[in-house]
Amino acid sequence: MSNNLIKKAAYDAGLKVIDYELDFVNPLKKSNLKIDHIIIHHDIWEGGTMQQIHDDHIHHRGWSGVGYHVRVRTDGTVELGRPFGCIGAHCKEESMNHRSAGIVFEGNFDTKHISEKQFEAGVKLIAGILRITGINPKNIKGHRDYAHYKTCPGGLFPLDSLIKRVIEVILGTEEVSAFAKEAYLYVKSKGISDGSRPKDTVTREELWTMIYRMAKQ
Ligand SMILES: [Zn+2]
Repeated sequence: MSNNLIKKAAYDAGLKVIDYELDFVNPLKKSNLKIDHIIIHHDIWEGGTMQQIHDDHIHHRGWSGVGYHVRVRTDGTVELGRPFGCIGAHCKEESMNHRSAGIVFEGNFDTKHISEKQFEAGVKLIAGILRITGINPKNIKGHRDYAHYKTCPGGLFPLDSLIKRVIEVILGTEEVSAFAKEAYLYVKSKGISDGSRPKDTVTREELWTMIYRMAKQ
């Protein structure tokens, strides 16, 4: 078994991927349960690498290796951990180690805000994983949703915004919005409309698309 699924999702999203080809002390076991959740974490390893966390989990926790499946670094680089589908060691509550992929974001979000780059890389990675696996976006959870004594992935981590963005990317509304923006600018530049929004149920995108097509005829 390999990390191919996560690697593919990251590559497809155009993200930089680091595969340390980690050696696990004992062979990892494949979960017998369906992987239908994504659990988000943060870490205390700012500036460190997945390899360092791997070594720490072996030497200080006595595990087979890093407990997470993948890490998103501050600069948006993705580091591979446990292969997708293998039992994790990141959220023991409610059998989540057997039912989820554990994604850790570099840094402590109890004390700092996430960067745009890291946020967007996380969005793209998760959207890619969801596209391949069919995991429902409502099953993207924070560690603290199961381990109530923890703040993980941090009080300042924008989990709701992340889920919202993942859904937008999956539905492709990002591309539609870019097109609507082009239409808006074109129409405005031609003096066809002043850009104000009419009081009806037509969305801004539908309206600009419509006017754009008319204007181009
Ligand atoms: Zn956690």
